[in-house]
Amino acid sequence: MDMNDGPADAEFRAEVRAWLADHLVGEFADHRGVGGPTDDEHWDLRLAWERQLADARLLNISWPEEYGGRGGTVEQEIIFLQEHAAAAAPYWVGVQGRDLFGPTLLRHGTPAQKARFLPAITRAEQFWGQGFSEPGAGSDLAGLRTRAVRDGDEWVIDGQKIWTTFGDTADWLYVLCRTNPDAPKHRGISMLLVPADQPGVDIRPIRNIVGSREFCEVFLTGARTAADLVVGEVDGGWKVAMGTVGAERLLTTLPYQYMFARELRSLVDVLRDRGRTADPLVRQRLADAWIGLEVVRYTNLRMIGTLTRTGDLGSESSVSKLQWATWHQRLGELSMRLLGPSAEIVGDGYALDGFQRGFLNSRAETIYGGANEIQRTILAERVLALPKEAT
Ligand SMILES: Cc1cc2nc3c(=O)[nH]c(=O)nc-3n(C[C@H](O)[C@H](O)[C@H](O)COP(=O)(O)OP(=O)(O)OC[C@H]3O[C@@H](n4cnc5c(N)ncnc54)[C@H](O)[C@@H]3O)c2cc1C
Repeated sequence: MDMNDGPADAEFRAEVRAWLADHLVGEFADHRGVGGPTDDEHWDLRLAWERQLADARLLNISWPEEYGGRGGTVEQEIIFLQEHAAAAAPYWVGVQGRDLFGPTLLRHGTPAQKARFLPAITRAEQFWGQGFSEPGAGSDLAGLRTRAVRDGDEWVIDGQKIWTTFGDTADWLYVLCRTNPDAPKHRGISMLLVPADQPGVDIRPIRNIVGSREFCEVFLTGARTAADLVVGEVDGGWKVAMGTVGAERLLTTLPYQYMFARELRSLVDVLRDRGRTADPLVRQRLADAWIGLEVVRYTNLRMIGTLTRTGDLGSESSVSKLQWATWHQRLGELSMRLLGPSAEIVGDGYALDGFQRGFLNSRAETIYGGANEIQRTILAERVLALPKEAT
């Protein structure tokens, strides 16, 4: 496959680069590299940056114009992501709506649902939270117990969700609910759109290992939403949700490879300053890390090829998720080991440096978006066609 840009894509790349050169200045330039899909650091600054991107119509490039996009191609969307990440621009905060829920709604929503929600997401005016996981249903998501029952023109929802990223800033939640308790467990589930600001919804942040309050518990007690706010078929939410999870495994995390490269470069710089890079064993470990990152990069290129050729990723995105999450966790461990005892000392008020944040945040990466063990099962069953997992 030819990975070089054609003339139209080259022109678009130049436009994005020029825009970034003009706008990634001042406070935004001072905050290069901040944030991530599950990181709430520098929220207000990132939101201000996201609104600038929205004004320049650089968000959701491949979405139809009627929903605020440019009606562009997936290649252009990827070019934007590459250039934005390579420039280390602040990471936007509307991850859930733009990268996960939006594409799901584009694919499965009704025209009325799309017209109502997508333009506000593109303008960075409306924020979403994902209500899938429950205390007893994470990897075994189909075992979820939150129930929704019809009451006239509304659904009434009762249950508990957990680990809802950016839940406390969400205006709306897209929630998986059991709507038919008598159906087999994958079948009686629906995806409901639930306004977060109502008496039946109680959202409580959980403090994570880096001290941030990015994910939340969500208690739904007689929460209500309109009968027509179901995405896809009633009882057909499993298929819809699997599309969301697939998107999470590549597009949301594609920019990571640039962030990881910066982390590796700064580790090399610090070690060089300390005279450690003269040690052949240190050099060997750093070379191994660099090779691993190249493997991640080439896998991403392969995934981009599949996505642009077929419009879908399928189970192959699990290869990418498994590789980058494992690689990054190993880099975190390597940093801590090579930086020595000083790496274990935190600043006043639990202030963490970039290496410490990277190491601690990476612990979650082999869990969210489907844990490593689950990715391996998907690959074994759906890509390698090995016998199914015993249940
Ligand atoms: C930072 C972060 C953000 C998140 N954001 C969201 C969000 O916005 N919305 C949301 O709904 N959820 C979110 N999650 C939840 C995430 O999807 C779940 O944590 C994940 O699916 C794992 O579920 P669990 O935590 O219940 O672990 P469990 O499923 O209990 O797994 C525990 C361990 O057992 C292993 N295991 C489980 N089943 C099997 C099996 N069949 N075979 C082999 N091993 C197995 C797992 O791999 C894991 O190592 C987030 C999680 C994190 C860490």
